[in-house]
Amino acid sequence: MIHIIRGDITTQSVDAIVNAANTSLLGGGGVDGAIHRAAGPELLAECRSLHGCQTGDARITGGYRLPAKHVIHAVGPIWRGGTHHEPELLASCYRRSLEIATQNGLTSIAFPAISTGVYGYPKNKAADIAFATVTQFMETKTSIQEVIFVCFDEESVALYEQKLKQAPR
Ligand code: ADP
Repeated sequence: MIHIIRGDITTQSVDAIVNAANTSLLGGGGVDGAIHRAAGPELLAECRSLHGCQTGDARITGGYRLPAKHVIHAVGPIWRGGTHHEPELLASCYRRSLEIATQNGLTSIAFPAISTGVYGYPKNKAADIAFATVTQFMETKTSIQEVIFVCFDEESVALYEQKLKQAPR
C-alpha cells in the first residue's frame, strides 16, 4: 500500500501527484517548476483561477500533459526553527491532500518530500510526519489504495525505507 521509489515525480502514472506549491499557486522552483514544465501552460492557467491556497491546505487541478490525471497542490510550511506550528502545518498538508484525493475517488497518489527543499524543513523530521500522517489516514475510510513516496535522491530513499520499517502496521 505504501511504496518508496527514487525518481522524478513528474513521470509517475498515478491518479494524482502532489506538488510542493507555494501560497500563490503560480509556480516556483524545485518540484513545482518541474511539474509546471512537464504539465504545460494549461496547468498555470487553471492554477490562476484558484486564487491561491493557505499554508497547510491543498487544491486539486487537472494533470494536462503529465501522465498523472491530477495534481494536488499542497502548501507546506517554511521551516522557521520548529516553533511556528511547522509540524502541524506539514501534517495538515499531507492530510488535506489525502482528503481531497478521497473526495475525488482517487486510488493512487504520489508525494514528494514537501517543504524539504527551498523551504528548509529537516528531512528526518519531515519524513516522520509524512509517514505518521499517511499511515494514520489509511486507517480511515478512503478510496486510496496506493501511496508512493517519491524521493529525489538516494539519501532520502534510505531515510524513507528506515521509516517504513519502523512504522506500525
Ligand atoms: P519546498 O519549497 O516545499 O521545500 P522544493 O521543490 O524546493 O519544495 O523541494 C521539495 C522536495 O522535492 C525536495 O526534497 C527536492 O529534492 C524534491 N524534488 C525536487 N524536484 C523533484 C522532482 N522532480 N521529483 C520529486 N522530488 C523532487
